[in-house]
Amino acid sequence: MKYALVTGGSRGIGRAICLQLASMGYPVVINYRSDAVAANHTRELIEAQGGQAEMLQFDVADGPQTDAALIGWTEQHPDAHIAVLVNNAGIRSDAMLVFMQNQQWHSVVDTALNGFFYVTRRLLTGMLTNRWGRIINVASLSGLKGLPGQTNYSAAKAALIGATKALAQEVAVRKVTVNVIAPGFIATDMTKDLDEKNLKAMIPAGRFGAPEEVAALAGFLASEQAAYITGEVISINGGLYT
Ligand code: NAP
Repeated sequence: MKYALVTGGSRGIGRAICLQLASMGYPVVINYRSDAVAANHTRELIEAQGGQAEMLQFDVADGPQTDAALIGWTEQHPDAHIAVLVNNAGIRSDAMLVFMQNQQWHSVVDTALNGFFYVTRRLLTGMLTNRWGRIINVASLSGLKGLPGQTNYSAAKAALIGATKALAQEVAVRKVTVNVIAPGFIATDMTKDLDEKNLKAMIPAGRFGAPEEVAALAGFLASEQAAYITGEVISINGGLYT
């Protein structure tokens, strides 16, 4: 049985991707770090649309915790493997570099970049053995263009793009694709403290994106139709940066 795992699937873009993959027939593993209520709500939404889902708590930035959770999941599902992995978990902790604290740097890099490594390393074997897989990494416009106040976040997301391109070439022969989605401003908890009115004026489409629009792209990259797309970075930003 082929499952999908979405890190940070409890809220925002991750929740929308969970719903999208469930609608495509995948039983979905909803990873979250702390907000079990939100993760459970994602599970309820999937079940309400006739899908199957389970929750799996672990902090992607914590290597041993991630290993324990994924090894435990594999032991409990001997006849299944995770065929679609969406590395979506991410945090912001913005500050100008001159004021940035060690903790701000490390927490952002540990989540986006080390989290990708810890989760993907464990799940890749199943994809390679079964000769099919989809890995979708959620980076950001910030990793392409660089945004002031986000040297930590821009560095983590740019590194994720580099890792994607390298890994894509390692595993293409086994029909495993690895791609990046690079969103611009998407309306979620992560952007709710931003000045949407002023920022919207800079976006050619004139609005923030919806999580469901990012999820539709993830669904396409997870599909069979996207089999020949790998190592790519696909922006979804309303024309903000092309
Ligand atoms: P969000 O609404 O803040 O949700 C973040 C999700 O990540 C939550 O489910 C959270 O779970 C989870 N998470 C955070 N740290 C984690 C960790 N260490 N381990 C496991 N899960 C963790 O964020 P979002 O806007 O949906 O963003 C999703 C992704 O898109 C992120 O990678 C973000 O960088 C990227 N992105 C977002 C935008 C945007 O405009 N929103 C733009 C570009 C890129 P808990 O609540 O349980 O902690």
